[in-house]
Amino acid sequence: MGMEEVIGLSGVDAVLRLASLEQFIRNYPTTHSDRAFSFETVSLLQSTLEQVYGPRGGRGLALRVGRSCFKYGLKEYGSMLGLTEMAFRLLSLPTKLHTGAKTFGDLFNKHTDQKVRVEEKDDQIFWHIERCPLCWERKADEPICHLAVGLLQEALYWLSGGKVFDVTEMACIARGDSTCTIVIDKTPLS
Ligand SMILES: [Zn+2]
Repeated sequence: MGMEEVIGLSGVDAVLRLASLEQFIRNYPTTHSDRAFSFETVSLLQSTLEQVYGPRGGRGLALRVGRSCFKYGLKEYGSMLGLTEMAFRLLSLPTKLHTGAKTFGDLFNKHTDQKVRVEEKDDQIFWHIERCPLCWERKADEPICHLAVGLLQEALYWLSGGKVFDVTEMACIARGDSTCTIVIDKTPLS
């Protein structure tokens, strides 16, 4: 659905067809079927985006898809995680960042096969994806998990009530690193 917002229905159809994922055309897997969407499929969608729109174009789109995905996740899991409750919304920004990162990481660890470890330092949060669906079985010269970067950017934007943060993927399993690591500066840019 996030992808549909960014490249339109016909764009999604074209990507699915090229990826030989015709079974998903106008028939997206539901969130109620846990783990119905394999790592192979997630990764294939990323590489197919790059194939259709070129490496740079595809990666830019993946970032935007990640951003638009966030609201669907929030709708599905927000209240269960307590993120949409007033008590959470009233916390200070540093506390929200701390609690939000942990809660969001737990969501992946409990409901998907993606493994996330959150490491917190004074000024930064390190979001280590130890088993990553986005670059699953891919090889690249630079970090390629743009969808995760977009998702975190949007999560931070929402969490802070409209602030923009520096979010950068510094390491990627596809490049031979041991984790896909996304670094978040705790101080917003704006
Ligand atoms: Zn990755």
